[in-house]
Amino acid sequence: MNTKKDKLVIFDTTLRDGEQSPGASMTKDEKVRIARMLERMRVDVIEAGFAIASQGDFEAVQAVAEAVKDSTVCSLARAVGPDIIRAGEALQKATAPRIHTFIATSPIHMKYKLQMEPEQVFAQAVDAVKRARQFTDDVEFSLEDGSRSEPEFMYRIIEAVINAGAGTINIPDTVGYGEPGEYGAMFKRVIENVPNSDKAIFSTHCHNDLGLAVANSLSAVMNGVRQVECTINGLGERAGNASLEEIVMAVRTRQDLYPVETGIDTTHIVPTSRLVSSITGFPVQPNKAIVGANAFAHESGIHQDGILKHRETYEIMRAQDVGWGHNRLVLGKHSGRAAVKARYEELGINFDDAGEFALVFQRFKDLADKKHEIFDEDLQSLVTGSEAPVEHYQLEDLEVRSKSGSLPQAQLRLLIDGESHRAEAYGSGPVDATFKAIESVAESGADLKLYSVNAVTQGTDSQGNVTVRLELDGRLVNGVGADTDILVASTLAYLDALNLLASGGGKRKGV
Ligand SMILES: [Zn+2]
Repeated sequence: MNTKKDKLVIFDTTLRDGEQSPGASMTKDEKVRIARMLERMRVDVIEAGFAIASQGDFEAVQAVAEAVKDSTVCSLARAVGPDIIRAGEALQKATAPRIHTFIATSPIHMKYKLQMEPEQVFAQAVDAVKRARQFTDDVEFSLEDGSRSEPEFMYRIIEAVINAGAGTINIPDTVGYGEPGEYGAMFKRVIENVPNSDKAIFSTHCHNDLGLAVANSLSAVMNGVRQVECTINGLGERAGNASLEEIVMAVRTRQDLYPVETGIDTTHIVPTSRLVSSITGFPVQPNKAIVGANAFAHESGIHQDGILKHRETYEIMRAQDVGWGHNRLVLGKHSGRAAVKARYEELGINFDDAGEFALVFQRFKDLADKKHEIFDEDLQSLVTGSEAPVEHYQLEDLEVRSKSGSLPQAQLRLLIDGESHRAEAYGSGPVDATFKAIESVAESGADLKLYSVNAVTQGTDSQGNVTVRLELDGRLVNGVGADTDILVASTLAYLDALNLLASGGGKRKGV
């Protein structure tokens, strides 16, 4: 007999919880770009932000709500009136809006953080769900620090919020303390003890402090949970969240075990992972499951031999099913505007204003002169640098001398607000020399917080994707640059960061 499996709802919170990783701030346009990729991947719910947290968050939720049509778009809101109103306003144009409201229910959080009696928490939770229902029929309620809450209190509050109209009940392991057997058993008990539990979908939200976020989430799925909250590359606060790609591929690969299936188009996993990594500047470790560069590289001779004879001997998944090998040659030097634009559209990147596309097309032409094969990843990296609204700083010319046994020297010409400046400096390495030369004329006084280089595609003619994170007066910005010459990419990334600082971009820390 072929029984139909339950749907496992994939709730992506890369843009909300993922963005809370220290330094992983994203601009509104970057969030929209990631959201479009998530929509193409057929993620069910996209949590776009925390609308009341700042004006920037509000606008980002609003922009994602307008751009995305096929996925539900969600905003987080504490269980208080102003938060819920703000979330409702930000989601006004969403095709399928969801408000996700939460309050802490563990004794330690109620007593010390909220300084509220359990009965007050109970009343506020019910009231918040009712208010949220005035904006949308799709309301999710989270019991913050739920895994450390008193069972009886939890059952009572869940029953009441379901009666008030919450369709999804999330019990997060906020502090990453859970263990798979225990966390799964908790859901089983909750579902058994809450009289109206059949009226709601239960959800997990796990943090990876002990490396158990994915295991805990999957254990919960085995015990009746039908929504998993997760992020691309496992991005998130502290050690991160459960990683979307691992959850989705575990469920898909072990269909013999899991009672559920997802609606995810897995071929978009690797391109989305790359996009998130290049926007946040957080590289993916090579041995990371599914999306790491070595995830499908079989080194051992015995393994290679086995795979050549029969792939399933050592490979449990096919690399192309998660989007590897999809970086096929698409375009080159002779490709015209229409072809380039069409390929961008297929990648979920639309250019609303002609000026922005003209800039990107020029970069494409410049790259095609240096590198004859242009892959999807290259196209994506060409758009990530165009965020700073005003280009105060532009590179005119760069020359770096580096010789073993002597100090590297950089000489460059910068255009600062239209005026040409020359600078030179020595440094402990060629990148250091270049940055010192830039600072000798720009005098921003910003601190360099992160410098990272990633190859966009394989091979030595690959583009280097550089992220430079600068901090000035408590404001953090991520500048990005891509070029086949990593020193040029580094310079462009540094100037991009300076342009973001000069135009008031970036994000205040701790918001
Ligand atoms: Zn979280």
